[in-house]
Amino acid sequence: MCIVGAGYTGLWTAYYLRREHPELKVVVLEAAFAGFGASGRNGGWVTAESVGSREKYARGTAGVSGVRALEAALRDTVDEIAGVCATEEIDCGFVRGGRLSVATTPAQLARLHAGLDAARAWGDEEDVLSFESAKELSSRVNISNGLGALYAPHSARIQPADLAAGLASAAERHGAIIYEATPVAEIQPHLARTVFGDVRARTVLRCTEGFTAQLPGAHRELLPMNSSMVVTEPLGDAAWAEIGWAGCETLGDEAHAYMYAQRTADGRIAIGGRGIPYRFGSQVDYRGVTAPETARALEDILHTMFPVTASAKLDHAWCGVLGVPRDWCAAVNYDPATGLGWAGGYTGHGVAAANLAGRTLADLVTGSQSELTTLPWVGHHSRTWEPEPARWAGVHGLYTLYRTADRLEAQPKSSARAALAGALGRVGDLISGIPH
Ligand SMILES: Cc1cc2nc3c(=O)[nH]c(=O)nc-3n(C[C@H](O)[C@H](O)[C@H](O)COP(=O)(O)OP(=O)(O)OC[C@H]3O[C@@H](n4cnc5c(N)ncnc54)[C@H](O)[C@@H]3O)c2cc1C
Repeated sequence: MCIVGAGYTGLWTAYYLRREHPELKVVVLEAAFAGFGASGRNGGWVTAESVGSREKYARGTAGVSGVRALEAALRDTVDEIAGVCATEEIDCGFVRGGRLSVATTPAQLARLHAGLDAARAWGDEEDVLSFESAKELSSRVNISNGLGALYAPHSARIQPADLAAGLASAAERHGAIIYEATPVAEIQPHLARTVFGDVRARTVLRCTEGFTAQLPGAHRELLPMNSSMVVTEPLGDAAWAEIGWAGCETLGDEAHAYMYAQRTADGRIAIGGRGIPYRFGSQVDYRGVTAPETARALEDILHTMFPVTASAKLDHAWCGVLGVPRDWCAAVNYDPATGLGWAGGYTGHGVAAANLAGRTLADLVTGSQSELTTLPWVGHHSRTWEPEPARWAGVHGLYTLYRTADRLEAQPKSSARAALAGALGRVGDLISGIPH
């Protein structure tokens, strides 16, 4: 078995393949080093959030019950990751504090209630999602502009690079062989071509998510979407006394161009958002440098939510790419005839999903029939992205709409501006097909 890419998808697949089938030879080819991609630099949310549109998945043969099964499997995945971290002694600061989706404007609050109604219509009960008033929210986390929140218990915080490194070691302990600094130039049935020579295998799995567009023949499959992060210096006890956040919930807002944050194990706040969303021609910035205006925008959000951080230094800023399919629905695919498979397109929710995808790929390639192989994202196909310059114009147009809507929502001043903001946000959702 040959796996291309040593991020969470490739590493989890290698781990489960070797753990369950020690007779298999499993080789991972990685262009840089294990965890170089999004897996080593994400926001550290291990979240059971949906990885695609419920309606679109429900159109498959598995129907609505299949969607419910996928969501239940994602919730169970949070515990699965905790279990492996315990068994394999991966110290990645795992804390299962749940997830808070916070409304910071009246328009966000309205979206939050609409989201809860939609979730209830799908059968999500209190144990999956519940509403918290501004007062209840502030007893968890003191957010100066917090108007209310949705709380989802199936979510945990981790240090992402520690999980990637620990997982790579665990996969190697179980017998997988990881070749770092080994870029794959081309993937064909039973073949991965590298500068050092060809690797021939019955199965070749492409686990390159945000980098997939760089491979021949896959240019328009997954759009490399950029996401940027900054992290403060460790905050003092007085600041934490003011902020609270003792439960280490993963924290996001309901803006169209949303932010995500966590309280880190070493007492910092790490906060991320979209920044420059996309580079022309699906290019990837391998250096991970964040534009200064993006870092400033994230700092502004941080200071507005937590005024006590106003004098805190930002210690680091970075960015990375995640993979977005045209229909915003993640997929796991394997074709026994060619031995080719892939998983990804998690649209920013890949930390838990990559574990589920890895277990599913392992079942698919070994021909094991399981509940996982019947989930509706297995065999799901999205159409490809538009050619350039339409792709660039579409993504940048979308985020311009979203940012304008967010700005108007933050200072609506009149009901006409508020209505315009709502309309812009809905137009954006329609253009993109982003599930809300
Ligand atoms: C800044 C940021 C924040 C995020 N925050 C969260 C979050 O909080 N929660 C969440 O659920 N998701 C989050 N995500 C998304 C999540 O991190 C990813 O979906 C997930 O890590 C994808 O894992 P992967 O293994 O599929 O891809 P990656 O981690 O990107 O790994 C792909 C690997 O393939 C290698 N590779 C690429 N091309 C080749 C080649 N030709 N040959 C050999 N190797 C190759 C790369 O070097 C890389 O190591 C975030 C993403 C980013 C960028």
